[in-house]
Amino acid sequence: MAEATTQETLNPFAIAQAQLDKAAEILHLEPAVHALLREPIRELHVTLPVKMDDGTTKVFKGFRVQYNDARGPTKGGIRFHPDETIDTVRALAAWMTWKTAVVDIPLGGAKGGVICNPKEMSPAELERLSRAYIRQVGRIIGLEKDVPAPDVYTNPQIMAWMADEYAFLKGYNEFGVITGKPLALGGSKGRNDATARGGMYVIREAAKVLGIETSGATMAIQGFGNAGQYAATLGRELLGTVIVAVSDSKGGIYKADGLDPDAVIRHKQETGSVVGFPGAEPISNAELLELEVDILVPAALENVITAANAPNIKARISAELANGPTTPEADEILWKNGVYVLPDFLCNAGGVTVSYFEMVQNAYDYYWDLETVHERLDRKMTAAFHAVHEAAQRFDIDNRTAAYVVAVDRVAEAVRLRGWV
Ligand code: GLU
Repeated sequence: MAEATTQETLNPFAIAQAQLDKAAEILHLEPAVHALLREPIRELHVTLPVKMDDGTTKVFKGFRVQYNDARGPTKGGIRFHPDETIDTVRALAAWMTWKTAVVDIPLGGAKGGVICNPKEMSPAELERLSRAYIRQVGRIIGLEKDVPAPDVYTNPQIMAWMADEYAFLKGYNEFGVITGKPLALGGSKGRNDATARGGMYVIREAAKVLGIETSGATMAIQGFGNAGQYAATLGRELLGTVIVAVSDSKGGIYKADGLDPDAVIRHKQETGSVVGFPGAEPISNAELLELEVDILVPAALENVITAANAPNIKARISAELANGPTTPEADEILWKNGVYVLPDFLCNAGGVTVSYFEMVQNAYDYYWDLETVHERLDRKMTAAFHAVHEAAQRFDIDNRTAAYVVAVDRVAEAVRLRGWV
């Protein structure tokens, strides 16, 4: 997370509420609907004793926040991160609610988190922590209730352990309880790169309305986990972009005439970081954000673009694959400066969209080929982009507020139809 250099709040939940407030005003939302949508419907705090490899027992704190289920069962990933707080999980659960609504899939929003440092844990410790989490949270999840998935520092193997633990709780297999599973355990083709792929489809549509030629356009990517790595390979494959800079938590690299994404991924697999990649110049995470590029892709954590550095952002498009990378004050600066922001819960909605496809396939026990997944994902992302673009034009507002207007309107309609207010 970036350090606070101004007085603006960096509490992600306060930010999520402020973003909602803006849309509520434009939509003239009834006070009761607005009040309901400002808070999670329910949340569970859990304490998890886990046996460590050295024989000691460590006690971890975890959360599951089910933000709103008016449109269907709640959905959202689980993060394993040392800086996790209940407020980050609340914000991420709110963003999941808007995310599922903006791509118009019949799900609500949720998020889970465990305060831990997975980089310091062995695979066996991570397995015991994952199972302990499900033993507690298992009572409130289920394919008709709430469906977790991978997020920061969780992956298909962790989903497999969790699905297995849940199967023991129930006494039978229920693959649809969790998504992002390995293919051998009911995973969907195309889930691995879905977040980045969905983002590329949205960039493609944005470039069309902006009159930008993506072939040969320069791209800088902050964060080199699942979303960042696939953004690099798919940026080249689907859009023809030139990846000039990438970074991870240890630092970044820059090469004016373009990096080979596959070689950088291999380097990271071998050394643990992109840093030190042969033939590239070192660059800091902060410098990467301020590069003069066509497309900037924040793909790491929240609050990296703040009032302090927003005036220096020179990209034409900021495509947010991370959740919550931009603060509200930064948003206003980017809007004034003409940086075209593709907001997180639109731009990174490809992951949950293919998660939804995975749930559908699990329910039918019949699996789609990769082309079908890609084609259906493309249709969802393209429709979502144009709904947001039209709202932005109609109300003369920035894309984030427009995405809120589209999503909140849909959730509010479901709330009213249910007779909740
Ligand atoms: N964790 C991803 C997100 O933030 C995916 C969630 C899901 O697939 O349920 O969108």
